[in-house]
Amino acid sequence: MDDSSKKQQLLDNPWGILYGVRPGKVVHKLFDSELALPDIRLVLKEKYLLSEDKIDLLLQLRSEETEVFDFSKEVEDNWGIYLGIPFCPSKCHYCSFFAHSSKTFKNTIEPFFRALLEEIRLTFQAFPSLKEKIDCLYIGGGTPACLGPDLTAELLDCLRAELKQLKEITFEGGRPELMEAELYSALQGKVDRICINPQSLNDRVLKINGRNHSAAETIRSFEQARSLGFNYINMDLRAGLPGDDFLSFKAGLQKMVELKPENITVHALAIKRASNLSKNPEMMAILDAQAARKMTDFASEFLMENNYRPYYCYRQRDILGGTENIGYTLPGYACRYNMMMISERMNIIGFGGGAASKFLFPWLSGREKIKRIANPRDALIYLNRGAKTNAERKFSSIEQILTRGEDL
Ligand code: SF4
Repeated sequence: MDDSSKKQQLLDNPWGILYGVRPGKVVHKLFDSELALPDIRLVLKEKYLLSEDKIDLLLQLRSEETEVFDFSKEVEDNWGIYLGIPFCPSKCHYCSFFAHSSKTFKNTIEPFFRALLEEIRLTFQAFPSLKEKIDCLYIGGGTPACLGPDLTAELLDCLRAELKQLKEITFEGGRPELMEAELYSALQGKVDRICINPQSLNDRVLKINGRNHSAAETIRSFEQARSLGFNYINMDLRAGLPGDDFLSFKAGLQKMVELKPENITVHALAIKRASNLSKNPEMMAILDAQAARKMTDFASEFLMENNYRPYYCYRQRDILGGTENIGYTLPGYACRYNMMMISERMNIIGFGGGAASKFLFPWLSGREKIKRIANPRDALIYLNRGAKTNAERKFSSIEQILTRGEDL
């Protein structure tokens, strides 16, 4: 391919030469260098070859972020927690996350849970000052709802007792079929934000993709949550799923908007090597990259018409149609954890299965600026390794950051 064809190909790609997971980071750097807004637009257009739509999107994300957090605050003071619950009721074919079957590994859930509590306890025992700094918490997985009502209530009581400064707790319950009355009563008054994530509101598409719940269950679960007073709900929808088409995606999104959750997150399908999908030639053959792009473009336009605004965005390798994942919010409901995590403005301590800690050292250079430490994804390896080792692997990074914060 000659240079002019290459350039044309990049111009046809709305993301131009930006291949990274976090396109917003480029904008942060440009603002940090104190360029004026028109110059930032020019750099994004001329140097990074972004389309006008993507430039508008990135600048809008930046302005949402400035409403939620303070860019001038040192990252030593920003701390959040991620809890990984590595169990799911069934395996979605497109998913590459490691998660045990909650049925087959039923007897592992409680021992895993005890080890998770111990990992948290040991960390706060070693660093009591952390308790005052952590302001957001995200319980994800896997499917946290697999903990069931009793363990969920115990977990939240324990966290609330330790962490008085929390501004936001998200419980990514996930699968609609598990979000029921008993679990809701365990969550009431203890979490701020819940996620009921159907991915599609088409029963045929759900079945093709290995999800054993129906669209009706999603709607029932959502309405029940509302009637119980949950007033901060996220729903996930996925563009480009095998077996889906534009009209079914559009109908699903329209139905979701009628429900009016505070957040709607539109993911595009990414083809992960570890997923069942990538090993199934028949399903791979029915993927439609053009349709995926049409779906995400429609979602963006339709959600903005309905008062939702994009508030965080990330991309993945092998994402269908070269698109992106975008979290949309009604005004005033942007999820702090998602924004701070994606823009890498917060140290994250990961507890539990597969939880990745991310520690920020902006005063160092190159690759040393960020250190990632992941817990074992397999609950059995996590248990075998023991809470003490799982906790202590993070201690030197936490100490380095806290000590620097105190010295400043
Ligand atoms: S997509 Fe979510 S619910 Fe499905 S297998 Fe993956 S983690 Fe579990």
